[in-house]
Amino acid sequence: MEQIKSHIRNIPDFPKPGIQFKDITPLVKHPDILNSAINELIKPFDGKDIDYVAGMEARGFIFGALAARALNIGFIPLRKPGKLPYDVQSISYDLEYGSAALEVHIDAVNPGDHVILVDDLIATGGTAAASCTLLENLGAVIAGCAFVVELDELKGREKLSKYLVHSLVHY
Ligand code: AMP
Repeated sequence: MEQIKSHIRNIPDFPKPGIQFKDITPLVKHPDILNSAINELIKPFDGKDIDYVAGMEARGFIFGALAARALNIGFIPLRKPGKLPYDVQSISYDLEYGSAALEVHIDAVNPGDHVILVDDLIATGGTAAASCTLLENLGAVIAGCAFVVELDELKGREKLSKYLVHSLVHY
């Protein structure tokens, strides 16, 4: 995990003053570190009966698609509004300032499908909680949530208390 952490770069005051942005581009650039991050990410789910990995735009696509490949299952993209071409189900959620929304194709899952949610980072947990609800509204069962980075003091995990939450490095 220390090797993974040492390939995450902190960028102070990005995109706004006061935010410590965790930049995962050095990690994804490094083949061995990327490989071990994906192996660690899927560990609690390997060998379990999981149907899909869902990942949020945009960095959740990188880790989510690779996790899906490693588990030999399919990937479901959750996207910002207006990007998915077919009929969608949407969810809006509150951010610290303002709100955001995510969409998924209405036929992305069948009722009862087991899905894990993957993103690069959990901060307040708002994005992940909304993503789980969005998938549950289509009938999915959330088998767990996996993140490369968890910002402990924002207590995002509390918003996901119903689910198994797995993260690799903590700040
Ligand atoms: P939240 O909904 O507060 O848990 O925010 C999580 C989402 O925002 C994830 O998709 C992250 O990629 C992004 N995010 C939030 N805070 C940071 C941060 N400090 N560094 C990098 N990404 C962040």
